[in-house]
Amino acid sequence: MLVDEVKKELSWQARDAAIEEIAARLGVRAERGRRFAELTSLRVGGAIDWLISPVTEEQAAAVVYELEQADIAWRALGSGSNVLADDAVHHYVVVSLKELKGEARFDGERVSVSAGYSLPRLCIDAGRRGLAGIEGLGGIPGTVGGALWMNAGAYGHEIGNVTEIVRVARGGRVVEVPGSEVKWDYRHTSFREGELLLGATLLLRPDDPEKIGARMLEAKNKRLATQPHGARSAGCFFKNPPGSEVGTGKMIDEMGMKGERRGGASVSPVHANFIVTEGEDAKASDALALAEEIRERIKREKGIELEYEVELWRAESPEEKSSESSESDIRQAAEAQDKQGSSDSLDSPDSPDL
Ligand SMILES: Cc1cc2nc3c(=O)[nH]c(=O)nc-3n(C[C@H](O)[C@H](O)[C@H](O)COP(=O)(O)OP(=O)(O)OC[C@H]3O[C@@H](n4cnc5c(N)ncnc54)[C@H](O)[C@@H]3O)c2cc1C
Repeated sequence: MLVDEVKKELSWQARDAAIEEIAARLGVRAERGRRFAELTSLRVGGAIDWLISPVTEEQAAAVVYELEQADIAWRALGSGSNVLADDAVHHYVVVSLKELKGEARFDGERVSVSAGYSLPRLCIDAGRRGLAGIEGLGGIPGTVGGALWMNAGAYGHEIGNVTEIVRVARGGRVVEVPGSEVKWDYRHTSFREGELLLGATLLLRPDDPEKIGARMLEAKNKRLATQPHGARSAGCFFKNPPGSEVGTGKMIDEMGMKGERRGGASVSPVHANFIVTEGEDAKASDALALAEEIRERIKREKGIELEYEVELWRAESPEEKSSESSESDIRQAAEAQDKQGSSDSLDSPDSPDL
């Protein structure tokens, strides 16, 4: 038993040394001791073993390639506005894209941006230049990479509709993938787990900046009227059921669950599909317990299996998936999410909640 413990410790040390060496060789910042509670909009979640922050697309492609060559698990994190990470220590490397922002490069009706560029910022930049097509996305807090990953959308606009090229990390290089080769579904895309998105070129259309500005303002006002403002949330927690005329938020509201609380997490009284957290003691397990209760009640009372829109991140690295975990409830929920993710409908409606 003791021998196993020593072996495990030695293998962690070797892994840490390999991560340090890769970061130093590629000139990338690598930090220890960060927490998901500081890096996600729900402000909950445990410690991160290593956080690596590349600043160029080439560097990011090289980082993930080297990690993969060394058999070290990693995950991409943008602004953390769609992630619920559990409370334990996360032993994979988190590759943060927040520093990979550079400048938005406009060329006629096209704009090229890196994955870490702020989506709201991009919508403002484009609108001011009289370029339309993404003004409905202006209120989605997050990076362009996060939006591409899950085909973020609101008010009739989805990022996939205007994406001409996505730059993806493959074999240590930046590879261009035509947007037409990607399957852009409702809050889901055909990008594979473990694929790092580095940036994109969007093709927009010319319009009067004043008209675009007016549409952005309209979208913003709708949001302010229907969603909690300034609260710690991850946006809509669940997708709307395919084909359903009633949005998930309305269903949860009809069950009288607005204001329902578990520890530091509660169902927003403003929008029932938003789970919000409050206070220093709020835990990921509070939010997940509440979310699971909502799913169970909807299943029992309406016969509908809700699918998570928020990404649930387990503390285990992918290679540790089969090991024991004290967070078994989170693991089960994440597994349920994985299964459902693969059965996403092609023609699911845009959120009727928005
Ligand atoms: C108040 C609020 C309102 C919201 N409203 C909306 C809305 O109207 N519509 C909507 O679609 N969403 C909405 N969201 C959810 C969220 O803002 C979007 O999903 C956003 O696109 C996530 O971007 P991010 O950078 O924060 O991604 P993260 O939360 O950091 O990551 C989300 C997922 O994308 C992956 N990812 C991120 N960057 C990359 C990359 N470069 N390469 C590969 N994978 C990557 C991550 O691994 C993770 O799986 C809302 C959230 C909040 C808090």
